[in-house]
Amino acid sequence: MKTRARPDFRVALLSLFLVTAFTLLVVWPVETAPLDTLVYVGRTGTKYHRFDCRTLRATKSEMRLDDAVLAGYEPCRVCNPPVSGVVSAKDSPVYRVNVENLSSYRQADTDKMLRGRVTRHIDGDTVHITLKNPPQGLNRVEKIRMIGVDTPETVHPVKEVEYFGKEASDFTKRSLLDKDVLLALDWDMRDKYGRLLAYIYLPDGSCHNAELVRQGYANAYTLFPFQFLEEFRALEREARAAKSGLWANGG
Ligand SMILES: [Zn+2]
Repeated sequence: MKTRARPDFRVALLSLFLVTAFTLLVVWPVETAPLDTLVYVGRTGTKYHRFDCRTLRATKSEMRLDDAVLAGYEPCRVCNPPVSGVVSAKDSPVYRVNVENLSSYRQADTDKMLRGRVTRHIDGDTVHITLKNPPQGLNRVEKIRMIGVDTPETVHPVKEVEYFGKEASDFTKRSLLDKDVLLALDWDMRDKYGRLLAYIYLPDGSCHNAELVRQGYANAYTLFPFQFLEEFRALEREARAAKSGLWANGG
């Protein structure tokens, strides 16, 4: 009896393997687009689109499909862009200031933000955050690059420590390390190094990114667009005029 049962078992195992392989290789890919597929969103609106959608204006910006879905954008009904079956904004709400269409960093709602704790300090504009409940698409520990600011270098492997770099780094360490914080995201979810791009808020409602610029620890970093760009430029002008921090010796 034993020797007869064996071939049946092998056939069953082989069938199971073939069905699984077929599902993974053939069925799965046609149902969902890869998450790094690029889609396009307008400056306003709640839909994401194909590049050439007639309802999109010239000011469109490019996003990864998973970022668009996590940010709460829905597929446009006119151009029928690719659909992701993996992530859903309903399952993993991430507070984004561009989706809320805020005009000032002071309007952000800390109750809706991601919660975490700063568990490692790198420099003036970079820290590690351990998230309490990371939604789909985010890791439990994320390296955060703060949006809209550029502090002088302190840890670059080649460059020398720049003027005021240590002060800016110390300010961030003193303000954030081992503290509970809140995160808000904006247009782009990650930079090319994979760092999460975020505004860091403290429970009292202050925005650390804005404080860095306002108190003269950082330049407003305007190479990439962000929701509060004009406001951060104004904060930098005020810091320069007041000769705060970096600008004490005329910049
Ligand atoms: Zn469209």
